Amino acid sequence: MTTRRLFTAAALAALCLVPASAPAATPLKVMLLDGESGGPYHKWQLTTPVLKKQLEDTGLFQVDVVTAPKAGEDFSNFHPDFAKYQVVVSNYDAAEWPADIKTSLETYMKNGGGLSVVHAADNAFGQWSEWNKMIGVGGWRGRTEASGPRWFVKDGKAEQDPSPGRAGAHGRRIPYLVVNRDTNHPITKGLPAQWMHQGDELYNSMRGPGENMTILATSYSEPTNAGTGRDEPVLMVLNYGKGRVFHTVMGHDINAISCEGFVATFQRGTEWAATGKVTQKVPANFPTATSVVYRTDYATMDPGYKNGLNGLDAQPGGRGR
Ligand code: ZN
Repeated sequence: MTTRRLFTAAALAALCLVPASAPAATPLKVMLLDGESGGPYHKWQLTTPVLKKQLEDTGLFQVDVVTAPKAGEDFSNFHPDFAKYQVVVSNYDAAEWPADIKTSLETYMKNGGGLSVVHAADNAFGQWSEWNKMIGVGGWRGRTEASGPRWFVKDGKAEQDPSPGRAGAHGRRIPYLVVNRDTNHPITKGLPAQWMHQGDELYNSMRGPGENMTILATSYSEPTNAGTGRDEPVLMVLNYGKGRVFHTVMGHDINAISCEGFVATFQRGTEWAATGKVTQKVPANFPTATSVVYRTDYATMDPGYKNGLNGLDAQPGGRGR
């Protein structure tokens, strides 16, 4: 091997070791919350380690996983200390919480906390009005017109549909085109104007108060795939008191969260929720308007990776949420 080749090999090795961003002097502390889902289609036990690794791979975050008791179990010893963390990432979909925990999260957010909401976490707590203000829109778990209008984007503006009906639906899992609606926000600044997301559930007909909400990106919900014919919100930011919320509807399972577009927007959105800034560079391999980019290093963390989509997800119409 020549000297030049040695140098190249060493340089490549060094590049591989350097995270996308330089390690923060003091890592941002993250509570990654899980412990419950609406059904077997949301395998939080499998997705949480991948979400944790995606955050820690930036070199910016130190992540503690906090697992809540399951529905019906004893919550008397469960007192998550939100104030210890700059951001709470929710991979958690429960129907209800004891009042003291709800008040604790509300206080944390009003005082300037951060919240990063992934996929079915926006199904949680259908009747908790302050939670619905934090996330802006949500689906299932008893939500109706009483929860707020359906939100979508038309002619570049957020629109509301107050007509009665349930909240939350999706078609078959297929790759879909994400359209940036706000190219000046720190999370979406520098991303391609349009990019393809790996096969995932595209939520539609999400309802909620939508207060202090900015829709950063949408995707067209195809009527030919049980959709609404509307541009549905897929990335949002909100202010709640002094707190910041990042909300992505992407991320049904490990397959979906292995999309490089999900990875980068989740990493950036969680940093913004924690600090109000984004210091991470957009990855060079970010998906384009015509290509899906898939991270096998994350995808293969799914023990069922070699089997492809599981039976529930593969059914036409999508039985899960
Ligand atoms: Zn789902």
